[in-house]
Amino acid sequence: MKELISLLILIITLTLSAVVCLAASSGAPVRHDFPRVGPYEVISGDFHMHTKHSDGRLNVRQRVEESYRWGYDVIAVTDHGKMAGYRVAKYIGEPLGMIVISGFETGVADKEHLVALNVPAGFEILDSHHLAEKPGEAKAYYRSELKKIADAGGLVIYPHPHVGYREPVLWGVEQGIIQAIEYKNGVVGKGWNTVEDHGTYWYPDAVAFALKHNLAIMANSDVHANRAPETSPVTLLLVTERSVKGVMDAIKGRRTAARFDGMLWGRKDLLTDVLQSSVVARKVAGGLEIENFSPIALSGVIGSAKIDLKPYSKIEIPLDAKNITIKWDNVWTDLTTTLATDHKVR
Ligand SMILES: [Zn+2]
Ligand SMILES: [Zn+2]
Repeated sequence: MKELISLLILIITLTLSAVVCLAASSGAPVRHDFPRVGPYEVISGDFHMHTKHSDGRLNVRQRVEESYRWGYDVIAVTDHGKMAGYRVAKYIGEPLGMIVISGFETGVADKEHLVALNVPAGFEILDSHHLAEKPGEAKAYYRSELKKIADAGGLVIYPHPHVGYREPVLWGVEQGIIQAIEYKNGVVGKGWNTVEDHGTYWYPDAVAFALKHNLAIMANSDVHANRAPETSPVTLLLVTERSVKGVMDAIKGRRTAARFDGMLWGRKDLLTDVLQSSVVARKVAGGLEIENFSPIALSGVIGSAKIDLKPYSKIEIPLDAKNITIKWDNVWTDLTTTLATDHKVR
């Protein structure tokens, strides 16, 4: 009997994964819908990706349509030193209901990369990835270039923070120009000074840095070839409206979280709101029914009872309570702390 149940579970899991893969490779987008959180809608973003305009393998149309199939609500095409893909991305993405933010990737010579978002089309990009660390050199000074981005209404992400936290980043953060950081980058894998931790390769040092300097938390793909499950992290955003302004306001208001490798990472207050909206406990005949309205598989404990909630599904547990506290296994607020949320039983 036990073997039969295991076999059934295996078959169901395989079928579900096949359905997800199929959806991702055909026209129908994958669903990542979350319930609303108070005045906010929770949407999925990817603010770092490449196309044939730089060293990516897909053209802009393919990249945008692929992002749509994978369920992203908002994207920024961020080619190295170029915004040539922006107008096409907007033209393709907007009719699909996506929000398209302008962007490009640049950096300090041989050191930090920097992703600029929301600068106007036609923005003059100087010495991409070759910015000088000191003024008066042949190449453009990084401070002048960062100021130009800010003056044009943009902001900057510190992506794959592989060279640590040197002066260009500290200065950019202090100036309020670098406003976001990637905890997870989808393509760097074991390279680029990632650390194996919490079951994946990422930048665990970025957690303390983001919290200390109040930066927006991000997980972006940086995809160059085709998207794959392991290279498709998500930046979650709590937006008041589905628009460029709504997205930029969410980043500036630090209403973001990182979703990657089956985990959610973010600030305690924001994740508490997301989990309390996503998980509902109701009294039923045999005890409690707990329903997960989110697209994330959530696991945790209530007292000593382990619970596993698949995306958009519910379970029943034999427990009689008016209020429950769920300590989550895969929702993290810092490197050693998982989130616990209180839920009133309805
Ligand atoms: Zn880069
Ligand atoms: Zn990149």
